[in-house]
Amino acid sequence: MYVPFLSFTWQNALIRTAVQEKSHLFFNSENYILGPEVTAFEQAYAAFNNTSHCVGVGNGLEALIISLEVLGVKPHDEVIVPANTYIATWLAVSQVGAVPVPVEPEEFTSNLDPNQIVAALTVKTKAILPVHLYGLPCNMTAIQAIADQHGLFIVEDNAQAHGARWQGQITGSFGHVNATSFYPTKNLGALGDGGAITTNQAAYARQARMRRNYGSETKNYNDIIGRNSRLDELQAAYLNVKLPFLNTWNAERRKIAAYYLTHLQQVPQITLPPTLPEAEPVFHLFVIHTPQRQKLQQFLKKQRIETAVHYPVPPHLQKAYAFLNYQTGAFPITEKLAQTCLSLPVWPGMSEEMLQYVCEKIKQFFNEE
Ligand SMILES: *Cc1c(COP(=O)(O)O)cnc(C)c1O
Repeated sequence: MYVPFLSFTWQNALIRTAVQEKSHLFFNSENYILGPEVTAFEQAYAAFNNTSHCVGVGNGLEALIISLEVLGVKPHDEVIVPANTYIATWLAVSQVGAVPVPVEPEEFTSNLDPNQIVAALTVKTKAILPVHLYGLPCNMTAIQAIADQHGLFIVEDNAQAHGARWQGQITGSFGHVNATSFYPTKNLGALGDGGAITTNQAAYARQARMRRNYGSETKNYNDIIGRNSRLDELQAAYLNVKLPFLNTWNAERRKIAAYYLTHLQQVPQITLPPTLPEAEPVFHLFVIHTPQRQKLQQFLKKQRIETAVHYPVPPHLQKAYAFLNYQTGAFPITEKLAQTCLSLPVWPGMSEEMLQYVCEKIKQFFNEE
């Protein structure tokens, strides 16, 4: 049986007609930038995310950059980032001229360890940038307490966690300004690039709106040096079709995760994602850990099961960050996670036969070892 790492076939079948109608309407509307679809999506996503404001932008990286700009993060400021994250989180900090200050994860959640944040703070620290990696919320109670105590901003990177909750509160609503991505593979994905900023503060939303559109609020009047990072009207139109399905699709992901958790718990050689009483994850990815990652991945590939690695090289060991002079061993937990992680297929519409097959083959691999 062939099991792709990701397939849109099932999801696309549900929205095909609506997408085709929207494409047709959009084409005839002759309103291609910042039109009614963007406005409608911003309202709908703000409501979904339980924030007063949402500002659609070009992509997730720019959502992060604009969030930091809005909060006044400046060159030479420091921003606490997870050592264990996708590099975009760090790139945003670097793009505003600030310094990413990495903090190790908790090994069992892969997320930023709140107990290690305080030791990394200096007089230059401006903000904490938690990432809800793989769709598992960070410990926002602890992170908020630290931010409050030290007068720091929080910017959540919610790119992997649309709809996740920590102690009942939706992620992307904790920080002062929060960023998300609608890259096609995310839980809510556009048919191309897209992103958004969410906030409860009108002043931050207004700033973000200006910054995404040349620093202008009134056409031909430019108050600040802005960017061009608008959410495409066409992408907003597609997102308006897809958003009503997001809760159902997240429930599908949870069902698949529950299957893996049940059927793989007896395999002592792998570590499964944690179940935390405070967290409702949305399983953007289902990541297991095993020292035999490479051999397991090769074996599964031979069985026609596609897996992936998120992520093989942590940001501090990338060439782009060589200038920060971190050596191998600088962040041992992050490096261990990078060497042992393996992402199993998880996508809405994945069949029980496929899940059964994946679990069976993983067990077979370890039985033969
Ligand atoms: C996808 C992703 C981003 C970047 O989003 P883009 O829309 O691809 O720019 C940032 N942070 C995390 C954690 C991501 O997964």
